[in-house]
Amino acid sequence: MELTLQQISAMPEDSYIYVDVRSEIAYQHGHIANAVHWNGVDKITFPENKRIIVYCTYGENSIPLVGKLKKSGYDAYNLSGGYREWLVHNSEELSDEEINRYDRQIILPQVGSDGQRKLKNAKVLIIGAGGLGSPAALYLAGAGIGTIGIMDADTVSISNLQRQIIHNTENVNQNKAESAKLALQKLNNKITVNAYSYFLTAENAEEIINKYDFIIDAADNFETKFLINDVCVLQKKPFCYAGVMRFEGQVMTYVPGKYPCYRCIFEEIPESGTVTNCSQAGIIGAVAGIIGSIQALEAIKYILGIGELLIGKMFIIDGLSMETRIARFAVKNKNCKVCGEKPLIKNIKDNAEKYAVNVCKL
Ligand SMILES: [Zn+2]
Repeated sequence: MELTLQQISAMPEDSYIYVDVRSEIAYQHGHIANAVHWNGVDKITFPENKRIIVYCTYGENSIPLVGKLKKSGYDAYNLSGGYREWLVHNSEELSDEEINRYDRQIILPQVGSDGQRKLKNAKVLIIGAGGLGSPAALYLAGAGIGTIGIMDADTVSISNLQRQIIHNTENVNQNKAESAKLALQKLNNKITVNAYSYFLTAENAEEIINKYDFIIDAADNFETKFLINDVCVLQKKPFCYAGVMRFEGQVMTYVPGKYPCYRCIFEEIPESGTVTNCSQAGIIGAVAGIIGSIQALEAIKYILGIGELLIGKMFIIDGLSMETRIARFAVKNKNCKVCGEKPLIKNIKDNAEKYAVNVCKL
């Protein structure tokens, strides 16, 4: 009734066929070569002269279907360990250890081994290793993003630890990017982590952002947020913006194309001193945790090409009332200085003084 991969490998290749009984979407995201898909219900005729080897994800749900095929007169068997077992033995780019490590997401139909390879080949830059960057970086490292850049010039202080969970008491006085790198490599030594122990500036932004596929704006000041936006728009790079204050958070994703950018909505860097900053307003760490986690999720969805991104819409949460809403920005702002009809910002370095940071530290 059940065959192992070893037993199957001893059989002539033209003597059997694989039948995949997982969901259609799981099948589409990766299956055993030449396997046919069957939903277990529809009438389908299999070749009578071949052995039918049925598999599901772990090799258990397929057992009743093997019985069903046997009753119909087929020489049917169950694949021991299912698709998961086959993956371990047949995934060229992913090691056994990687398959084990990412098991809970590889079995998701929307991820599969193909998706895991996409994550492994992806490069994500996180600008800011603070309240937002901490959860974003940890979840992206956990998910197996192959290359993570983490950027921050600050040093860890004891008052950071209430929300900046990638650091710990032992890292106080250490550079945040370096401290974050240590934590990420402890979590996952299969990935590459590049630490940038300085701030993003008009001078270095284009060169660094250009090396990555997706950018996470986990910065705490408007100058850096506008700099990230303007460089990403000019370089046609997708990025995820977020902001948190007190019990509230908001997050939005930009991808090049018809949807609005951060500057379309916020227009100009506020005058210094006109907007309350975080050290004055305060923040609950868990709120930064929620929003930073959403940023990681947006990056993962973008890389996998699944689901709906927060493009043209901003997700807003009030952590006190637990009210959430989506603010929609269906079209670009035609007066936007970087992506509007008559863009004025064409060169970042020429406007360097505008992006110079003189605000608080989150
Ligand atoms: Zn714009």
